[in-house]
Amino acid sequence: MNEFPQVLTIAGTDSGGGAGVMADLKTMQMRHVFGTAVVVAVTAQNTLGVQDFMAMPPKLVDEQCASLATDLKIRACKTGMLADAEHVHCVVENLKRYDFGPLTVDPVMIAKGGAALLAEDAIATVRDELVPLATVVTPNLPEAEKLTATTITDQAGMVRTGHALQRLGAKNVMIKGGHGDDPAMANDFVLLADGSAFWLAAPRTDTVRTHGTGDTLSACITAELATGHSVADAIKTAKAYVTGTIQETIQVGHGHGPLNHWA
Ligand code: PLP
Repeated sequence: MNEFPQVLTIAGTDSGGGAGVMADLKTMQMRHVFGTAVVVAVTAQNTLGVQDFMAMPPKLVDEQCASLATDLKIRACKTGMLADAEHVHCVVENLKRYDFGPLTVDPVMIAKGGAALLAEDAIATVRDELVPLATVVTPNLPEAEKLTATTITDQAGMVRTGHALQRLGAKNVMIKGGHGDDPAMANDFVLLADGSAFWLAAPRTDTVRTHGTGDTLSACITAELATGHSVADAIKTAKAYVTGTIQETIQVGHGHGPLNHWA
């Protein structure tokens, strides 16, 4: 019997259930793959924000990875919140040690509520150690700017930054335009390993229920890669999935509510 597709998220938890590992597992479930998780950090969080977090001892991150590698067959994996340089480095070592399949790097830095989920001095570690391992890297505009030390003011800037991220070693790049200033549309730029590129445009939805969109996108890409889809198709499917989850919202909490995975 063929093994059921198994995928992995290496990330931080969200006690409120909307982002991080929780969003990843919900997305993976909806995309019909078996989700597993290596927890790097635990956040105390709800829809109002991140109240506190603590990173796991790196040894426990190593042990979680070893547990998976000695039993399961992980076909694709993603990284999310990695907290600080020590943990980024620890995760990189594990990704080199084990074959967890194509890697989607979501270079999580700052939550929508303003909480720093990655220490400022860890950005260089993400850039130098993690991005070169990425099959796909999915920064939003501020993250892309930080990784490449550039300022993006227009679509030409997104294209230039996409190429800069490829020069850092990422095979495929998706720069998410959701933080851009176009009031009507959110335009994402995708640059593939073979040098071809395309734009994905979606109308902006007027909602505060966008908590966990980045996590959900990268988790969906991971699920699609695990089931044999091309990078281009995985990205298009993930964009459509996220767009769907924000269109019909569910009422949970009092702030930036979670996505509706049943939409
Ligand atoms: N909490 C965790 C653990 C995350 O990984 C993320 C995003 O990547 C967030 C919170 C932030 O979610 P958002 O900025 O969508 O509110």
